[in-house]
This record gives sequence, C-alpha cells and structure tokens, in this order.
Amino acid sequence: MGVFRRIYELLLEDKIITPGQIVVPDELPSTEMMQLVHTAEYVEAFTSGQLDDARVKRIGFGGDVTRSPVLINRTLAEVAGTLLTARLALRYKLACNTAGGTHHAFPDCGSGFCIINDMAITARVLLQEGLVERVLILDLDVHQGDGNALIFQEEPAVFTFSMHGEGNFPARKQNSDIDIPLPDGTSDDVYLRVLGEVLPSVLTCFKPDIVLYDAGVDTHMHDSLGKLNLTDKGLQRRELQVLDTCLAADIPVAGYVGGGYSPDLTTLARRHCQLHRAAKEMWENYSLGAPVD
Ligand SMILES: [Zn+2]
Repeated sequence: MGVFRRIYELLLEDKIITPGQIVVPDELPSTEMMQLVHTAEYVEAFTSGQLDDARVKRIGFGGDVTRSPVLINRTLAEVAGTLLTARLALRYKLACNTAGGTHHAFPDCGSGFCIINDMAITARVLLQEGLVERVLILDLDVHQGDGNALIFQEEPAVFTFSMHGEGNFPARKQNSDIDIPLPDGTSDDVYLRVLGEVLPSVLTCFKPDIVLYDAGVDTHMHDSLGKLNLTDKGLQRRELQVLDTCLAADIPVAGYVGGGYSPDLTTLARRHCQLHRAAKEMWENYSLGAPVD
C-alpha cells in the first residue's frame, strides 16, 4: 500500500504534475453509495472492523490489517478518489487517480486484495445522478475484472471489457461483456494490436459517456504476479493508445492505477506513473484544461 504514497511523491518529483493539479476528495463515500453495489451486511461488517475470518482470508491482507481503522479509512478514501476522478473526467475530459481499480470485490465479499469495488460504485453513482447514461469499464489489469463482470452482468448501461492473462487469477472467471484472455508471454506488439482491433469498435458501438480505465501494470514482464511480457515501452504505448483512442472519440476517460507487484516500491510506482505521464502528454495534445461546460 506504500506504493500509492510513492506514486504521489514521484508525480511531483519527476514533474509529471504540479501541486496545483492535485485534487483531494473532501468526504468519504456514504453507506448508501456503497450499498449501490455491496450488501448492507458486508458494508457494516467491513466498516465496523468485524469482518469474519473466511472473508478476511479471501481478501488476503490478514485479519489485523483488514480490521484496522487505517485500512478501513484508506479503502473508503480510495473509493472517494475514484468517484472524484470520474467527476473530474466528466468536467475536463481526462483525470487520473493515484490509486483505484479494486475490480475483484463482489457484492458480499472482497477478493484478491480488493475490498470495496470503487469502479462499480462510481459507475452506479454517476448513473443514479443522471450524469451519464452509459459507462465503459475498460480493464487492462492482468487479472480478469471478475467483480465488475458479475456486478454488471444484467446491467445494459455498463459495458465490461476485460483483457487479461488467461492463466492468471482468478481461476474461476466471470463473463464480462467482452473478455480477451491472452496466453502467458504475450508481448508488446501482439498485446497492442489486439487492443487496437477491439477498443475503437467498442467505443463506436456502445457509445459510452465515460470510460473508467483500470491501467493495472501487472502486465509488465517483471511483475511478480503477472505472466505477460510487456516492456516499459510497451506499457507506455498502451497508456498513450488507450487515452488517445478515447479522447479522439471525444469520450471522457478516468484512469486508475490497478494492480502491480514488485519488491521495489519505486520501480513499481514508476510503472504506475506511466499512466499519468501519458495523461500529461494527452492533456497537452488535446489542449485540455478548460471545463467542458
Ligand atoms: Zn491485477
């Protein structure tokens, strides 16, 4: 979790952003917001620090951590940041979180280091408030976005697109609207070609009002858990390609860091910052900065 702080520091140290570009949520999500996705029982058990051992185990952080006020608060802050990022993307066309992308969380339990599903809650809040009519969840984390796939299985207003390693977690995949399972060892050119063949037509056919993009970097060749073979350059090309494709279609995009695993926090944080570097370049290319309305 220290990686999120390191991302924030590197964004400033490497001058990818200026302090004036940082926006912090001023409130945590309400219980009602979380219950747009999660059961009341799960929200209460988690936020009161009383989650049972079986569900703690499935999340993977351990009981003392999962039930600690620090992690509870951090989890809620992450949801707040993800929602704020989407609101900013609707206002400015492009915004990125320094965390987010907890795509394995299900309505009544967490899974794979994900507790509360920030992107699903964000999609439901935006729809409920009438800010959007259609949301695309574009999930390029190496692990399938099984939580979102299940949550939105019967929801025509949310399109789930997951491109992931077929031999990776979760063992039991759910059905997204589009799943693209990739074999172990997939390299930059193949990965980007497949993405380039599918994403533009999804944007054209579904016509989302916003794209919520999970830019997990566990697709990197040196990731501890990933099994794909993307290079640093390949990741950078991916972020530019995704953001450019959405913005060229005049569709707002909100970026989330997603998963990534390395014993070296700075190396890992730099991989995540590729998203923000690409966003900076697009911000300049598309002369963004003025509110859309
Ligand atoms: Zn992942």
